[in-house]
Amino acid sequence: MSDRVYSKTAGWQDMAAGGVIPQAGNAEEYATGGWRTFRPVRDDEKCIDCLQCWIYCPDNAIKVIDQKVSGIPYDLVHCKGCGVCAAICPVKCIEMKPETDFEDEN
Ligand code: SF4
Ligand code: SF4
Repeated sequence: MSDRVYSKTAGWQDMAAGGVIPQAGNAEEYATGGWRTFRPVRDDEKCIDCLQCWIYCPDNAIKVIDQKVSGIPYDLVHCKGCGVCAAICPVKCIEMKPETDFEDEN
């Protein structure tokens, strides 16, 4: 059993502030992909560069150069492995693979 003591009179004003996000896009400044358990792997032969994965990626981890994603690596520093890109891809050319498959590369 926990030995923590909770005040019966403390209100929310007495709590320490947490989860403050002072500006949009501030996660760009630090690595957020460290807890990824699955990694997106794209088959560039099948990719039609429709850019839907780029539109839907919640972590801005898909890079686009000259309106193409194929041939360009993912930003794995920020990719959290959510699988949205694989789910949205109309030609199903993205496979989510376990990070354990890449242990030799890390
Ligand atoms: S959604 Fe699929 S086909 Fe479209 S750009 Fe992304 S990987 Fe390529
Ligand atoms: S797995 Fe999620 S975070 Fe990673 S590239 Fe795909 S949509 Fe973006």
